Amino acid sequence: MPVADPIYLDNNATAPLRAEAVAAIHKAMGPPANPSSVHGFGRRARLLVEDARQSLGVLVGCRAQDVVFTSGGTEANNLALSGFSHVITSAIEHDSVLQAAPRASLLPVTGDGVVDLAALKQMVAAVPVEQRKQTIVSVMAANNETGVIQPLAEIVQIARDAGLATHSDMVQLLGKTHIDLEALGLDFASFSAHKIGGPTGVGALAVRPGQSLTSLLRGGGQEQGRRSGTENLLGITGFGAAATAAFGDVAHYREMARWRDAFEAEIGAARPDMVLFGADVPRLGNTSCLVVGDKPSETMVMALDIAGVAVSAGSACSSGKVTASHVLNAMGAGEKAAQAIRVSGGWQTRRQDFERLAQVLAGL
Ligand code: PLP
Repeated sequence: MPVADPIYLDNNATAPLRAEAVAAIHKAMGPPANPSSVHGFGRRARLLVEDARQSLGVLVGCRAQDVVFTSGGTEANNLALSGFSHVITSAIEHDSVLQAAPRASLLPVTGDGVVDLAALKQMVAAVPVEQRKQTIVSVMAANNETGVIQPLAEIVQIARDAGLATHSDMVQLLGKTHIDLEALGLDFASFSAHKIGGPTGVGALAVRPGQSLTSLLRGGGQEQGRRSGTENLLGITGFGAAATAAFGDVAHYREMARWRDAFEAEIGAARPDMVLFGADVPRLGNTSCLVVGDKPSETMVMALDIAGVAVSAGSACSSGKVTASHVLNAMGAGEKAAQAIRVSGGWQTRRQDFERLAQVLAGL
């Protein structure tokens, strides 16, 4: 019997590189390419960088010149927070926010994983007037583990009314729903290429016009003095191509929400003990974070891998070691936090991938 190709449902960790990104990178490879050089080689490289900046600006609804390329979402998050002495953030942020602001005031979340707006109002009101200019509110747009979408427009409003700056880690939202940064009024927004089918090691921070930025990397003054270092031309070119391709994805993710819902309904019917995180609140259409049975997450992930389906444990394991998810802990999941698996579709995912997972999971 032929063995079916393995199915990849771990796109919140990273998505496969898109053919469009591969083609763009190939095209850029070879000639000397320092975008700061004034000769023809340099000018060609500059054009490629500026094209990519334009593509990302169009995808997220900001001006091209407000995009600062970085080495990824991690650097973008660190960069956004670097100029502030006080950070108000949520307990469910990615580690690149939590570790960048170890003394941050942490907002609790509800059992569904939504930031508690009443707590935010209280925390914001407690910031002394003289500290407001050095305070930033940073809340992610969508959580990488549960897919839960945060009420960002309200969060920005509450912070701005008190004169505080705002940042959002939009790494997981990018390409999945329409983003209009200008309308949202955020001061900073972080993005990463590899979650939308671009290469790893490249990302961006969008900075609202007029908002100052404290650089982390100083040197040659690239990126208008906001991020020094010769630009990662191949990465940036691939990011731009992926951003252009991602424009067509919003409808795909809307459809995927139906495949995901059907998958969850099937598992829920077969296994009434199923626990589904964020089930009753707005979620990304591609993500399902659930517990089926009482085995540890890693055991489930390995069993699914052997059966040909790649998913991840509730929490991403950056160094190969899985720890209980701080996100699910903050949601009050208790022992279930160590039993959750995360399923996440991507630009290449098809309906039958969710159907196959349902079959495999039902048989475990
Ligand atoms: N923020 C979120 C929500 C993420 O899921 C990730 C990636 O796991 C990052 C930031 C970090 O992005 P990068 O891998 O590009 O540094």
